[in-house]
Amino acid sequence: ELHVAMTAERGSDAPRKPRIIAVGSGKGGVGKSTVSTNLAVALQRAGHRVGVVDADIYGPSQSRLLGTEGQRPIARDKQLIPVQSRWGVPVLSMAHLAEPGQAIAWRGPMAGNALVQMLEGDWTDVDVLIVDLPPGTGDIQLTMLQRFKPDGAVIVSTPQDLALIDATRAIGLFDKGGVPVIGLIENMAGYACPHCGEVSDPFGHGGAEATALSGDHPFLGRIPLDIVIRQESDAGTPPAAGDGPQAEAFVRIAQRVAA
Ligand code: ADP
Repeated sequence: ELHVAMTAERGSDAPRKPRIIAVGSGKGGVGKSTVSTNLAVALQRAGHRVGVVDADIYGPSQSRLLGTEGQRPIARDKQLIPVQSRWGVPVLSMAHLAEPGQAIAWRGPMAGNALVQMLEGDWTDVDVLIVDLPPGTGDIQLTMLQRFKPDGAVIVSTPQDLALIDATRAIGLFDKGGVPVIGLIENMAGYACPHCGEVSDPFGHGGAEATALSGDHPFLGRIPLDIVIRQESDAGTPPAAGDGPQAEAFVRIAQRVAA
């Protein structure tokens, strides 16, 4: 079952904490950040109050993807106030904290500290926090598991064998940490040629679904390799915020995540 309760318990005086859904991948470049953004926007459009933390400290991309480049979060009582995007999804990313284009040459403890500050930002108006993790199974993932145990994890992979082997490692980390794996998403699955319409599979087909099933994890769906997704993402207008066919795959996946 996919159930991760999407609303925090009510009735207590403690400040409401959002549910954390971590989005991970074994490899970089498989579309984990793109999926995080569009999953957040699709959940927001479905009526959830969603925020995004970009935990990819060394390669932050959420400010670009959500169109919030150049904005700076303010701090109130030492707590970061998230930056508002046009899509109703507030966000905190290293990209908002570091100078644009400058290398982020931080050692592990400082990177972990940045993660903590972003996760302890003012998320009181948010029910679901999507955390875009760095690829792999390193320090940041461990800090995340130890200090802010996610309520669920979503794994993104391409259909390619190598990406899937690493995705299996990422799943193993969450399994070990007692974090329920909500399911796998296969990205860059099938490419429709804009000229002749023929669909080809540059990275193979069906691998993520097979991997999910072999590990008894749900398969959440596939997203095609589509030039419009790349163009809109680069422009800071998430495809899931539009009404084009590109939004559909994300909407379906968001429904499964929220079910
Ligand atoms: P990761 O977070 O795994 O490193 P990104 O989300 O940054 O990956 O995606 C890597 C590149 O691939 C980006 O240029 C992005 O726009 C592009 N991309 C991701 N998913 C798709 C897709 N389904 N179709 C087309 N381009 C995609």
